Amino acid sequence: MSRTKLIAANWKMYKTPDQTRAFFADFLPLVSGHTRDEIVVCPPYVDLAAALEAVKGSNVGVGAQNLHWKDEGAFTGEISAQMLLALGITHVIVGHSERRQYFGETDDTVNLRLKAALEAGLTAICCVGEVLEEREAGLTEEVLRRQCVRAFHAISAKKAAKLVVAYEPVWAIGTGKTATPELAAEAHAVIRSEATEVFGEEFAAELRILYGGSVKPDNASALMSQEEIDGALVGGASLDPKSFAAIVKY
Ligand code: PEP
Repeated sequence: MSRTKLIAANWKMYKTPDQTRAFFADFLPLVSGHTRDEIVVCPPYVDLAAALEAVKGSNVGVGAQNLHWKDEGAFTGEISAQMLLALGITHVIVGHSERRQYFGETDDTVNLRLKAALEAGLTAICCVGEVLEEREAGLTEEVLRRQCVRAFHAISAKKAAKLVVAYEPVWAIGTGKTATPELAAEAHAVIRSEATEVFGEEFAAELRILYGGSVKPDNASALMSQEEIDGALVGGASLDPKSFAAIVKY
């Protein structure tokens, strides 16, 4: 079974449209001709148009960091799948731990967003992961299974064709602490087994599960060499073109 790895950048709330153009001017030549992995950059909404313009004709895709589950409506500050599609966006992150931690995202709203993204035909990167207290209490497996089962609720294997899961242990995000490759692979196996229960073995065998949490050029290769790790979701180290390119080329 060979799953094409996906290396995705999550820029969070960083960069203006001008800074986005400058990033791609430096980044694209560094990864041109790189076909081994799929590369996607997820900037803030206001940078999406500039990013799409910059990547035209290249091997790099553009994703959003969130979406609402309705097509339109009185939801101030929200963006729908239809709006992303109209722009030409192909990927979207759902349920990032910062949304869960700071913006009231719950397992149920993650499920609504995930369903909307998949129904619209977007590749949805659904984030799951335990906080430090849960890991220390031995609850990692239970938390991952709960987050997956609730996120996948009422989604068929057919609808989930473009699902990607990102395992992001919250204690490793932006902290410089990375899960060891073995520990990440263990968590990925739990996620794959939950996906097997919900969607079946065939689907789960093809499901891409990314690792996220302080991925840097110097640890990318050890993480990516794990059979269970199908790519990376990269925050801080994706803001610099050289460092993100080095991760892509792990
Ligand atoms: C993230 O925000 O998805 C992330 C993994 O951040 P960092 O790489 O900075 O830990």
